[in-house]
Amino acid sequence: MKQGVLQFLGTGGSMGIPVIGCSCAVCHSEMPHNKRLRPSALVTLGDQRLLIEAGPDLREQALRYGLRTIDGVILTHAHNDHVAGLDELRLFYLYKGAPIPLLLSNDTYDDVAKRFGYIFGQDKRVEGLVACFDIHQLPAERGKVDFVGMTIGYTSYEQAGMRVDGFRFGDMAYISDIRRYPETIFEDLAGVTTLVLTALRYTPSHLHFTVDEAVAFAEKVGARHTWLTHIAHDLDHEKTNAYLPPHVRLAYDGLEITFDYH
Ligand SMILES: [Zn+2]
Ligand SMILES: [Zn+2]
Repeated sequence: MKQGVLQFLGTGGSMGIPVIGCSCAVCHSEMPHNKRLRPSALVTLGDQRLLIEAGPDLREQALRYGLRTIDGVILTHAHNDHVAGLDELRLFYLYKGAPIPLLLSNDTYDDVAKRFGYIFGQDKRVEGLVACFDIHQLPAERGKVDFVGMTIGYTSYEQAGMRVDGFRFGDMAYISDIRRYPETIFEDLAGVTTLVLTALRYTPSHLHFTVDEAVAFAEKVGARHTWLTHIAHDLDHEKTNAYLPPHVRLAYDGLEITFDYH
C-alpha cells in the first residue's frame, strides 16, 4: 500500500469564480477559497505526476503551482472547460523532449484531435508537424487500463450526449461532470474511500449534480471522504461547508489530499 496525493489546481465550474462581470457576493468575496480556476487536478503516485484536464486556466495553474514536468495527462471529456488549455502542453512536450502520454476515450480523442489538429500532428495544411502526444485510448466503456506504468480504473457516463470518463487511482476516484450514469458505476466505485465529485450549485442543472444529489451519490458509494469540485458562484465556500455533512467538503484551489493506492 502506497500513499498518493491529489492537488486541486482548479475547483470552479466552466465560468470560474469570479465570473466575468458578475456583482454577486461570492464573486466579490475577499475569501481566497471563493476564488476558483477551471477544474483540474494533479495526481502524484510515487514519482509519477499525472495531470487531470487541460482547461482554459492551465497556463495560470502551471505558473501558480510550479508545474514544469508532467508524466501523463488524462482527459475526462471534450468540453471547453476541460480541454481549452491543451495548447499549453506544447511547452511540457518541449521540456520533456518526447510526446506526452495522453489517456482519453475514443470520443474525446476524435473531438480534441479535430480541434487541436496542429498539436496532434493531424493538420494536413502544415508541413513537418509533430504530435505532442502519445495517445492511449480507453479500450472499453469501463474497466482498467495500464498507463505510464500504473493501473488506472475508469468508468463512463454521459453528459449532454457526450461521453465522460471518471478515473480511479487505488482507493480514490475523480468523477467529473456527472448527472446521469449507469448503475454499474457503483460496482466500479466499490471500495473507494476518497471521492472527488462535481457539484455545481443547489438548484437543478441538466448537466451536473446539485449539492444534495452529490451528497446522495457519495452516500451510495460509501466513501469516507468526499470532496466537491466544479463549483459555480452560487456556492459560498464557508456557508456551503456549514450546510454539508462533515465527511463531504467543498474542495478549494491548491488543496492537497492524500489517498491509498495499491
Ligand atoms: Zn457571481
Ligand atoms: Zn465541466
